[in-house]
Amino acid sequence: MGGTEAQHDTSSMDRALRQAEAAVRSGQTPFGAVVVDRQGSLIGEGHNRARAERDRAAHGEVVAIRDAWRRLGERRMLAGATLYTTCDPCLLCSVVITQIGFRRVVFAARGADVPTYKPLLGANLVEAAAWVNAQADWTPLEVVADFMRERAVSILATFPWTWTQTKAAFAHSNREEDACPPPRPSSCS
Ligand SMILES: [Zn+2]
Repeated sequence: MGGTEAQHDTSSMDRALRQAEAAVRSGQTPFGAVVVDRQGSLIGEGHNRARAERDRAAHGEVVAIRDAWRRLGERRMLAGATLYTTCDPCLLCSVVITQIGFRRVVFAARGADVPTYKPLLGANLVEAAAWVNAQADWTPLEVVADFMRERAVSILATFPWTWTQTKAAFAHSNREEDACPPPRPSSCS
């Protein structure tokens, strides 16, 4: 794989951030993610597609993990991988992440950086990882927070979060989906 872990973290998060930018361009919420295997190879990527697919579970992390699983064919080949995500994963994504058996998760923005942030059960991945790491039979999970956070926050600021902003941004769209008020984001929804 070559390069240091820090270099790989930077290039992988850069790719996740570009996914988040692509999400904004296509009218999706600004969350991107990338999956990298133990050897440092990119094996999956994606961004939030909840609106596009009318799927409330299509968070950026879930889309990237589905991509990786499809490419590899078997879930066990995902074990020990690293997930890079542009925002602190929500409760839904935290469940998926711990079930897959990731070794590391690196995230950029904090949930509180998302306007109208209100996490279900007040959950966040750092606390979920602490619980996981207290279980003898679960794969230990390292979480790196605030990595390239400033750039992620600047991308979050480009999204029309309020109803007024959404109406203005999609004034010329006929799609019913675009006319809906934005969701109450947990963090990556
Ligand atoms: Zn999520």
